[in-house]
Amino acid sequence: MGITLLISALITPSIFAQLQSPDEFLGYELGDRWTPHHRVVSYVNHVAENSDLATVHPYGTTNQHRELVYLVVTSAENHSNIEEIRLNNLRLTGLQPGEATPNRKAIVWLAYNIHGNETSSSEAAMKTLYELVNPANLESKEWLRDAVVIIDPMMNPDGRDRYVNWFNGIVGSEMNPNPESREHNEPWPGGRSNHYYFDMNRDWAWQTQKESRYRIAIYQEWMPHVHVDLHEMGYNSPYYFAPAAEPFHKVITDWQREFQTTIGKNHTRHFDEEGLLYYTREVFDLFYPSYGDTWPTYNGAIGMTYEQGGGSRAGIGVITEEGDTLTLKDRLYNHYLSSMSTVEVTANHADRVVSEFAKFFDDAVNNPAGTYRTFVVKADNNPDKINHLLRFLDGQKIRYGTAGSSRNTRGYNYKTGQTERVSISAGDIVVNVRQPQGQLARVFFEPNPELADSLTYDITTWEAHYRFGLDGYALESDIRPEMNISPEDFRQVTRTGAEKPYAYVARWTGMDDARFLAEITKQGVRSRFSTVDFQMEGNSYKRGTLIITRGNNNHLGDTFDEIVEAAAEKHERSLYGAPTGFVESGSDFGSNRVSFIEKPKIALILGEGTSSLNAGEIWHFFDQQLHYPATLINTDDFMRFDLDSYNTLVLPSGSYNGVLTDSAMEKLSTWVRGGGTLIIMGNTNQLFTNRNGFQLTRKYAETEEPAMDKMLAPYADRVRRNISSSTSGSAFKVTLDTTHPLAFGYDQEYFTLKLSADSYSYLESGWNVGTVREGAYRSGFAGVKAKPMIENSLSFGVQSYGRGQVVYMIDNPLFRGFWENGKLLFVNSLFFVGN
Ligand SMILES: [Zn+2]
Repeated sequence: MGITLLISALITPSIFAQLQSPDEFLGYELGDRWTPHHRVVSYVNHVAENSDLATVHPYGTTNQHRELVYLVVTSAENHSNIEEIRLNNLRLTGLQPGEATPNRKAIVWLAYNIHGNETSSSEAAMKTLYELVNPANLESKEWLRDAVVIIDPMMNPDGRDRYVNWFNGIVGSEMNPNPESREHNEPWPGGRSNHYYFDMNRDWAWQTQKESRYRIAIYQEWMPHVHVDLHEMGYNSPYYFAPAAEPFHKVITDWQREFQTTIGKNHTRHFDEEGLLYYTREVFDLFYPSYGDTWPTYNGAIGMTYEQGGGSRAGIGVITEEGDTLTLKDRLYNHYLSSMSTVEVTANHADRVVSEFAKFFDDAVNNPAGTYRTFVVKADNNPDKINHLLRFLDGQKIRYGTAGSSRNTRGYNYKTGQTERVSISAGDIVVNVRQPQGQLARVFFEPNPELADSLTYDITTWEAHYRFGLDGYALESDIRPEMNISPEDFRQVTRTGAEKPYAYVARWTGMDDARFLAEITKQGVRSRFSTVDFQMEGNSYKRGTLIITRGNNNHLGDTFDEIVEAAAEKHERSLYGAPTGFVESGSDFGSNRVSFIEKPKIALILGEGTSSLNAGEIWHFFDQQLHYPATLINTDDFMRFDLDSYNTLVLPSGSYNGVLTDSAMEKLSTWVRGGGTLIIMGNTNQLFTNRNGFQLTRKYAETEEPAMDKMLAPYADRVRRNISSSTSGSAFKVTLDTTHPLAFGYDQEYFTLKLSADSYSYLESGWNVGTVREGAYRSGFAGVKAKPMIENSLSFGVQSYGRGQVVYMIDNPLFRGFWENGKLLFVNSLFFVGN
């Protein structure tokens, strides 16, 4: 015993004496240059090894195999009890069963560098971490008695290293602060986004990206009380912190508003002391639920965004408009200051912070706000779509069940947009707002989220029925879920009909079917699809149904059945083995109304001149969702590449920077006329109006505002006047021509996300497959002048051009990868259109 004591007495002080500051550890002063991801990870590991106040936890890897880590920083005493602190906090939310004990610590989460090229964040994370554990900093030791600090030092390592490696590769021996210098002009796609060019600060709720999924899993293990997402904005702006700007979503509580102000005031004390400029309550609002401030807010936290002037164009140092040189050192210092101030103010109000957090969840269960109490999803919706919704709800920890008995009541019908008499069946799925995550449920289901102010810079609708393509209602009456159900309950897979059949028959209703088709096509299976409804053995099949005949697949021999059956099992698809090609009604399998699917050989154009976000959405769709190959070709190589190796070409949104010259258009037109399918996304459609052979035309407002009103409008109203003719993302009903292959698998009504009021007229000779008719507006913000622009316009159109087809996708169904019900439209354009 004596020896053990002696050894620990000798070792303990020497271990902690080894704790180094970032400058000592890295060998340069923070801000002199960037610390790449692997060095940041080395440093935080060093701190965890040499301090008893910090532990480090790997929580996943990025697409480029970089490690994601977070740290837990608190007093040694709290560390000895940390699992109990964590579980106790979950008990306060009601998400974990059991009574909470009075042992309550405030949990602050500091999240750095989700936008990769907003680089000062991760440097500030290291300084903050060090000053929290530094034994010489007595103040922070006080805070750590009452607070548990979670630090995620780098949320987007792939994007950040993309920026850092680029910059280091082109900078001279000294940095050049002249903003015209090339080191201030980052090339496409920039380091803001992740590997697939997704903006991960739009992905907190949808979790389409693996980094988001890993992060949310640990977030839900902790459920912090204060969450800060640290960013950078244009380098001429002073520092921004809470309180946020209007609009606030109406679910945000008074306490959440109040404590933002308390935090902001604490920051102003520190910023004033140092003479730093800052602003609050402007620009950055709390509405769209998929940000690093809103999503935590809807999860009970005080969620905030802090913004430092800087970003991609700031380099290591840059001369600002006011003639000062803003350096990386300044930038990281400010983020450090606000980080420390956040921990300070939270620790000083720990009791209130924890009790208000508990109250948020208590109120959700016992005293819910809002008009609607119950959201209903009809049980007779497509089971795959229900499955997708329920998996989403599981990911948000939102509870649901079945209604248990049938009844008639009044409710808002999402489909008709009317409050009317509705009937609920026993098996219908109900989400009641009286539950711990009731606020989040309201955010995802309320038919028309109310804006306190319409000036928001993001989309204003994301309602789950529209997003997943489901029928249902919002009710003011309380229906408690009776029976528990799970997503798997909606995965009833059957294998009926003949063994080794004449043809396999598979339904076509959504992305699971699309993945099945993509998989067998990759493996050489040749398929057909019916362009008419048909009946067989008493069962009805709709247009779009896949018919995979043995006769088309003789080249596969015996492996044919194995491939098809294995793919069906993997994707949980029901198969019917048809013993014959003769149908009871409709067209026989050999009819030319049963079209043969030519294997798509797809090229995707991307690079300078295209929207990296849209290009990334399409790339991610092929690579991670459909699992079907597309060849990515740079815009620079457009004139050089051999189009004839492909039968399908996708053009993402973009300006194309002069790439689509007359000769490029001639090349495209010749290829389409020869049988190619050209898919044009979003605003790229503008480039095809008034072009020879392409029928698309712009639609303009019918009545202009009287010139005098416009001229005499006050200057102060300029921003507000502009929004009357815009939409930043709202839902409109699209009427689909379900007899056209582009709309196979859909009902006649589809709800589209309108991202812009730029509108196009109906095609004069072509197929107006998706149209926005009169009165089609349904949810979200659309300005009074925007609505008539969007009504009577084209959403999805197809024209024949020679032997080929042009698909006009005015609305982007792949936007942020989250509008689930739109994805099949894109798949149809690849596999069905033109066949
Ligand atoms: Zn940012």
